[in-house]
Amino acid sequence: MALLVQKYGGTSVGSIDQIKGVAAKVAAAKKAGNDVVVVVSAMAGETNRLIALAQEISQIPDEREKDVLIATGEQVTVALLSLALKEIGQPARSYLGHQIRIATDNAYGKASILSIDSTKIVEALKAGEVVVVAGFQGVDENDNITTLGRGGSDTSAVALAAFLGAQACEIYTDVEGVFTTDPRICPQARKLAKISYDEMIELASTGAKVLEIRSVEFAKKYAVPVHVRSTFTDVEGTWLIEEDDSMSDVLVSGVACDKNEAKITLVRVPDRPGLAAQIFGPIAEAHIVVDMIIQNASEDGTTDMTFTVPKADHQRALSIVEKSLPAVHAKGVKVDTEIAKISVVGVGMRTHAGVAATMFETLAREKINIQMISTSEIKISVVIDAKQSDHAVRALHEAFIAN
Ligand code: ADP
Ligand code: ASP
Ligand code: MG
Repeated sequence: MALLVQKYGGTSVGSIDQIKGVAAKVAAAKKAGNDVVVVVSAMAGETNRLIALAQEISQIPDEREKDVLIATGEQVTVALLSLALKEIGQPARSYLGHQIRIATDNAYGKASILSIDSTKIVEALKAGEVVVVAGFQGVDENDNITTLGRGGSDTSAVALAAFLGAQACEIYTDVEGVFTTDPRICPQARKLAKISYDEMIELASTGAKVLEIRSVEFAKKYAVPVHVRSTFTDVEGTWLIEEDDSMSDVLVSGVACDKNEAKITLVRVPDRPGLAAQIFGPIAEAHIVVDMIIQNASEDGTTDMTFTVPKADHQRALSIVEKSLPAVHAKGVKVDTEIAKISVVGVGMRTHAGVAATMFETLAREKINIQMISTSEIKISVVIDAKQSDHAVRALHEAFIAN
């Protein structure tokens, strides 16, 4: 008997009718002879609604209580899906993260899964039940509820598949798989039959939210076969696999856009050793992930230090930076939340030159100004004005993929 982990995202469980539809799909997989563990997200829009409630009370809410609050979204959907399964005659049982002990570290809002105790899940499966697990949440060693970061149900699902040794992890969502770029931005986007773990890590880290990045890292580490596919059709989706030889023939496999970062600039700080450590040390201690960094030295011995952080953390980052302003002798600090990071990704870049040049020429032709640039072995990212992001995605898709 095969063990399947299926994950259904927020737009797949956005209404009672949709939850009934998911129950039918899950029951069919069980009837076909599989053991099934289902992971669900909160109903579409619910996590945003809960975050907004907290922010009505505090601009920077206490992180522990915020996690207690936003973990409730998934509590609703596990119960509703279990009810829907029982209603059609399929025995089912719901579990929250702490009940089966999805153990995480204590980084509230972005906790990492450390281990999962499979005892209760295995018992329930043996009893013929479908196990419905709340995504996005876990518990730290002091029994505090933690959440895994936006889109974290993907990570719950892949981690469960890894710890349970599932045959596959199916990620059911509102598109038919992983496309060459977001099909909602670019109608020319093509569905990929397969994509390497490494390319998917880069796409996910650069904004292709179809999979959360840590889920892909987990999948790669534990060689979990992941199948991204549509909740609403039965067509084959996209498989995540190890890189194979045919893949490096393709120069760019995807274009991604991320509007969830903010740019912070420390204006005219003295250009001296130790400065970066002084600025970024406290930010790292606060578990805020800094993505791109650029430093613009000027003639007068000062430098502008610009970096990007997740938009959700920019208020906290700003308050940390503001505290260090006198010590680093900066002239001031500027914030820009209206930016977008556009990236082109492909394992073919390892062996082919010229991608950066084509990217810059394409953007120049479209009169799109580049504010920051960063590169890795298989990715080039630029930061631009958010207003031009869709335009940039379409132009780059046209330049690299569509023809
Ligand atoms: P879920 O609620 O199922 O977790 P998400 O909204 O998190 O779904 O992710 C699916 C969305 O990801 C799609 O609706 C699509 O707009 C977006 N997306 C961005 N980039 C891509 C891509 N390269 N391929 C497919 N979908 C993408
Ligand atoms: N409900 C959470 C979110 O909206 C987790 C998820 O959807 O994966 O981010
Ligand atoms: Mg998602």
